[in-house]
Amino acid sequence: MRAQPKASHFIDGEYVEDAAGSVIESIYPATGEVIARLHAATPAIVEKAIAAAKRAQPEWAAMSPTARGRILKRAAEIMRERNRELSELETLDTGKPIQETIVADPTSGADSFEFFGGVAAAALNGDYIPLGGDFAYTKRVPLGVCVGIGAWNYPQQIACWKGAPALAAGNAMVFKPSENTPLGALKIAEILHGAGLPKGLYNVIQGDRSTGPLLVNHPDVAKVSLTGSVPTGRKIYEAAAAGLRHVTMELGGKSPLIVFDDADLESAIGGAMLGNFYSTGQVCSNGTRVFVQRKVKDAFLARLKERTEAIVIGDPMDEATQLGPMVSKGQRDKVFSYIEKGKAEGARLVTGGGIPNAVNTEGTYIQPTVFADVTDEMTIAREEIFGPVMCVLDFDDEAEVVARANATEFGLSAGVFTADITRAHRVVDQLEAGTLWINTYNLCPVEIPFGGSKQSGFGRENSVAALNHYTELKTVYVGMGKVEAPY
Ligand code: NAD
Repeated sequence: MRAQPKASHFIDGEYVEDAAGSVIESIYPATGEVIARLHAATPAIVEKAIAAAKRAQPEWAAMSPTARGRILKRAAEIMRERNRELSELETLDTGKPIQETIVADPTSGADSFEFFGGVAAAALNGDYIPLGGDFAYTKRVPLGVCVGIGAWNYPQQIACWKGAPALAAGNAMVFKPSENTPLGALKIAEILHGAGLPKGLYNVIQGDRSTGPLLVNHPDVAKVSLTGSVPTGRKIYEAAAAGLRHVTMELGGKSPLIVFDDADLESAIGGAMLGNFYSTGQVCSNGTRVFVQRKVKDAFLARLKERTEAIVIGDPMDEATQLGPMVSKGQRDKVFSYIEKGKAEGARLVTGGGIPNAVNTEGTYIQPTVFADVTDEMTIAREEIFGPVMCVLDFDDEAEVVARANATEFGLSAGVFTADITRAHRVVDQLEAGTLWINTYNLCPVEIPFGGSKQSGFGRENSVAALNHYTELKTVYVGMGKVEAPY
């Protein structure tokens, strides 16, 4: 098997196996080939990982942030040196084209280690609070053992986006990747330890939805950070609440992307395509409700159809391929069922909707799909599809589109394309979302906070803000005089 790791789990600085766990088959979505066979964590493996993290964390927390940061920055360098190998593994794990993974996956993980390795020393400071003689100060202290639970769309990036701020702040992590994409996180653990991370601080265990609760309910776990769907988020939040554990929730979305009639149409179409077809549409922040002002609707759709039909679909390992398969058969079936609902409820299929020609029929390929004349109440306009399906809706004026854009339980992202700078800021001000873009879409560099509002979650990843979510404040009041007691 071409991607078989040394063992299923990485605990306390080494690969560990426990064949008693149920089998997880890793399938290459482009061919249906089994590329690795792993075992889900048994309760003994979960205990081993948490015990290692608990043991290693205090010494790590006692190091200076600069010394911790040096190790993370070394890990970033190794990731960049090994970018090709890591990208190929990410392509095997997910089916995403190498054209994407080589620029977007390990590199964004490396950015994260580099950024948090650098800012740790400057951003973990507290405050001095003068009290007229007495004074107080605050310290940002790590939480302890943090659990990360990942989705399957950006396995390496998610493993790094959670690991980097957690480690920079002095925590230890136990990370569970999605059962669909178990391979990348093991390499991240290996690289971190190769960079000098002391044993036990970044552990990876495999498992599915039955393994997650063993981590979330564990009394030694201080925090859970999830990237996943809203229903999973609810379950984990509820379980974490029982132990009053900290949580970060990066959940799903149904984000609006608004194109006004004065926008640069080629850019707006490019933004809409990136925000619906990149990673075969498997991106949480995608702008899947594309509101186009009526005057430019026909021109928008004609050019969108032309550009969509020119997308190169094929072997993900071929550098010319722009669109790969979906991550799994189950996910593709789900997307097809939404396409059928779209047609049944009266949306107009502009392009796509089926299986592309000239691809490996064992692969889980799907055509990039555009629906027009979509209305707000249609299922495809309300529910997260998580595939390459763009819904185009028409609108007439600004107030109307803002109200319709906000009429959703989700609040992850939103975008506006317009040449009117005042309108751009006025509209984003009113849109209910955590991450917004003006005249671009889906760019998430590590320097800026990323996360959702409403049902799309809370807490933020990336930027200095993420450090706050992996630390808590300790306040120290210092009495400088005699204690005056009334008794
Ligand atoms: P999912 O919710 O099915 O699974 C996510 C992870 O949670 C997996 O590792 C899974 O094993 C685990 N899990 C499931 N049930 C659990 C439970 N009860 N307790 C503990 N762990 C449990 O999501 P998915 O299908 O892997 O990913 C797709 C979803 O993730 C989409 O909704 C997408 O929008 C969302 N997502 C969000 C972001 C973001 O940053 N906001 C990024 C990527 C994906």
